[in-house]
Amino acid sequence: MSRPQQITVLGATGSIGLSTLDVIARHPERYQVFALSGFSRLSELFALCVRHAPQFAVVPQAAAARSLQDDLRAAGLSTQVLVGEEGLCQIASAPEVDAVMAAIVGAAGLRPTLAAVEAGKKILLANKEALVMSGALFMQAVRKSGSVLLPIDSEHNAIFQCMPQDFARGLGAVGVRRILLTASGGPFRQTPMSELAHVSPDQACAHPNWSMGRKISVDSASMMNKGLELIEACWLFDAKPAQVEVVIHPQSVIHSLVDYVDGSVLAQLGNPDMRTPIASALAWPERIDSGVAPLDLFAIARLDFEAPDEGRFPCLRLARQAAEAGDSAPAMLNAANEVAVQAFLDGRVRYLEIASIIEEVLSLEPVVALADLEAVFTADAKARDLARQWLKRHDR
Ligand code: NAD
Ligand code: MG
Repeated sequence: MSRPQQITVLGATGSIGLSTLDVIARHPERYQVFALSGFSRLSELFALCVRHAPQFAVVPQAAAARSLQDDLRAAGLSTQVLVGEEGLCQIASAPEVDAVMAAIVGAAGLRPTLAAVEAGKKILLANKEALVMSGALFMQAVRKSGSVLLPIDSEHNAIFQCMPQDFARGLGAVGVRRILLTASGGPFRQTPMSELAHVSPDQACAHPNWSMGRKISVDSASMMNKGLELIEACWLFDAKPAQVEVVIHPQSVIHSLVDYVDGSVLAQLGNPDMRTPIASALAWPERIDSGVAPLDLFAIARLDFEAPDEGRFPCLRLARQAAEAGDSAPAMLNAANEVAVQAFLDGRVRYLEIASIIEEVLSLEPVVALADLEAVFTADAKARDLARQWLKRHDR
């Protein structure tokens, strides 16, 4: 067999990062960790370096880098520690690297992920916010470099598996009528509306089926996650927002479906464990063991479906409107959401105010074309600024 593939894991200390390392460790003959990054929880990053002996590790600040470097040397490791966004871009684009797991949360992942795209790497894309912010530019960069882009988001990975291989010819050309994007409905699917005003960050993060980082957990509770995923699906599969239908499926067993013009509907099923999409993308087009237990249909017994209620989930409506408006609207939506969710997690705003903040930001700022990456970051910064003004005005 040829040499193991060299993998960079951006966001290694997070939920997706750890699941990725779990799959990689099952296949040492196929994959070797080239580099890892972490942002907080640096003692965990140290432990991951000891376990996987990467050539590089990246941390946000110089002081943290010096301390991690000393600890690694003392442990007899030759891992070199790099700093900040520059370090992230370096490990994402190094010539030795075959594939990059983009698992940083939020807009912070955009530049490093794009660096990997521009270097023509195989991209395992978990960091949906990067694609949502910069959609057209991101996809242009993928086409230009010939990078292979594989979705990790369970829904998009499912859609990818249910699409014909030549789907890039266009959904119409390959006979696809609709994409059915499934959503669990999160922890508040049935919470009485009167109680939603008072739900806490911990309640929002208690997802019924998935264990995830806190930001995406809040997004799942508000269904902004599904909104971001709708936009993500439009870019990945060249679909119009109207071709993507959101279906609430509380068991999270069907990860999404593709509806063809002949009436065939293909679905991908599996236990809700991110190691399945991760293993599927890592090995694509082959299949490898992921450590996930086989699906027990008799234990699941039934699969339910319902239509989403945009009154209960205003973030889904706001995301669909941003998807339809295009240009800078998704970047603004994403940035306003990041500020609002962080403020909610910090106890500064109530759950229902997340949607109010985003709605106000989108109503105040006109949609503009995004000619280059700087324009993306300008739109992102404007939205963050407006969201912070909301917080100030409400004395938070
Ligand atoms: P997480 O919070 O568990 O981990 C985030 C990682 O990013 C950590 O390693 C953290 O150190 C790093 N990070 C945070 N802020 C950073 C910054 N400013 N600069 C550099 N690094 C930073 O999040 P997660 O649940 O693993 O999600 C990661 C991404 O994957 C998100 O975009 C999320 O939407 C997507 N995703 C996650 C899941 C899931 O099941 N967890 C499923 C689908 C998609
Ligand atoms: Mg998802």
